[in-house]
Order: sequence, then C-alpha cells, then structure tokens
Amino acid sequence: MSANGCTACPRECGKSRVGEELGFCQAPNEFVIARIARHAWEEPCISGKDGSGTVFFSGCNLRCVYCQNRVISHTAKGEILTPDELEAQMLRLQEEGAHNINLVTPSHYALQLRPLLAHIKPRLHIPIVYNCGGYEKTETLRTLDGLVDIYLPDIKYFDGHRAQLYSAAPHYFPTAVAALREMLRQVGRCEYDTDGMMTRGVIVRHLVLPGGRQDSIALLQALEKEFGSQAFPLSLMSQYTPEFATDCPFPELHRRVTSFEYDAVCKEAQRLGFDGYVQERESASSVFTPDFFEKTF
Ligand code: SF4
Repeated sequence: MSANGCTACPRECGKSRVGEELGFCQAPNEFVIARIARHAWEEPCISGKDGSGTVFFSGCNLRCVYCQNRVISHTAKGEILTPDELEAQMLRLQEEGAHNINLVTPSHYALQLRPLLAHIKPRLHIPIVYNCGGYEKTETLRTLDGLVDIYLPDIKYFDGHRAQLYSAAPHYFPTAVAALREMLRQVGRCEYDTDGMMTRGVIVRHLVLPGGRQDSIALLQALEKEFGSQAFPLSLMSQYTPEFATDCPFPELHRRVTSFEYDAVCKEAQRLGFDGYVQERESASSVFTPDFFEKTF
C-alpha cells in the first residue's frame, strides 16, 4: 500500500481500503477469506486424487457480471484472518494431503501475500498456485517472483468492448498479455512430478461464454501469435452457468454455451496447435460451484 492508497492492480483506485474507503475489489487490507478446503474440480494435474488446497479470497478486481462465485466476489463476504492464521490454514491443507496451495482470486491481496508466502515457503513441500482472472499489474506480479510456482490465469476476453461490458475493464487483453509474459518469465515451461502432478509452469484457462465464440477464437489466435502454441497448456472451460447472471442486463448471458460454440473454439485451439484440457459438458452446472456458506475453517 503506497501513501497514495492502493495501486496493486491495473485499476489503481488509490483507495486506503480502510473502513468505508474501498476500491473496485471491495476488499479491505486484511485478508477476507470465504473458503479453505481441498477442491477436486481443477485440471487433473492440479487436483490429482487428493484435491487442490484452495484458499478462496473474497472480493475481486474484475467482478464479472456472470461470476459463479459472485456471493463472495462482488462483496468481500467472509472471515478476516491474520497472516499467522492464514499460514496455519495453509499448513493444515498440506498436512491433509493437498497437492498444492491454490490461491483463488488473490490479485487484490498480492502485496499482502508477498511477505506471507516468503515466510511460509520454506515449510511447504507442495507448490503455490496463483489462480487469477488475468487482470494483473506486471509490477505487482514481479514482487511474487520466486514465491509462486504455478500460475493459472483465466484469460477472459480479446474484445475490449466485451471486457468493458462484462468486467468494466476495457484494456483487459493487452493487460492480461503483459501479465502472462511476466508469469512465463518467472516460472517457464511446465514441469510435472512422477505422478503427473504439476510442480511448475503456467496453464492458461479460458471460459467460453454464450455468444462469445468469435471472441474466444480471436483470443486464441492472438495468444498463439504472441506466445506460440507450446509455451503453456490451454484449458478450455465450458462450465459457464447462467444461474449466476439472471439479473444481469445482458440477455446473451442468460443461457448456457451450446455444443456448437464450445466445439468451434476447441477445434480452433487444435488447429492452432495448442495442447491442454477440455471439459465435459456436464460440468456446466451450479452443483460444481463450491458452497461458500459451509464452515471450512
Ligand atoms: S486491488 Fe482493489 S483497491 Fe487496489 S487498485 Fe485493485 S481494485 Fe483498486
């Protein structure tokens, strides 16, 4: 936090994050956490058989209108934990057999996480995963160099107009590309242990949205042009669930992604030479959204 308020992410709100003076992310300076539990529904090399040790941070610097985690992302609903308490929870996840510590939506806490991660890293024998929406400030990411082992950015939009409509972030794509370049610089190509679990690297995720087929294809083409097709695995997600967007003013978001839309994006990824993951269509259900009202810590 600078004397001029928070500038941790590309929004550079300049808010103190104290009391009522909150920025776009709606989060105070203290860690507000919604859920800490092992989670089975990440990519197989992240979830494995024993689950990924997820820590869901409340608040978000994107607050997408269709967010499936909106009960915690649109307001910072959760419990305040001190850094010591959060470290203890991470160690608990490790003791329970989690394959990694998976920081979910951590971007607005990146600067607070830096000293915590530096302190806990020597006691962790599992990787630290930074699982974000791709809207990152490169200077902030640089402070995590050597502390994060795996980056999981969900790169959401190519078209700035859609990024503005759905996430109030018109400069989303160039910002995400710069962030991805920094992530790749830090951790390089993917590495796996003998069980096939990822130990280092970047997986780029992309959630295909209803009505977004052409933008998804343009996004893949732009990523391939920028980085080539072998710099990272690509994880194409079809899990969009309209239940979370019923009150948003964009009728195109009030339905599921069709097989035609999802298959067209998968085919383009294949044509461009990307390797990675596709999802079963059955995953487009709200039953796969974690229960944020369950007491997990
Ligand atoms: S982290 Fe939050 S308060 Fe800080 S610049 Fe980003 S949106 Fe604004």
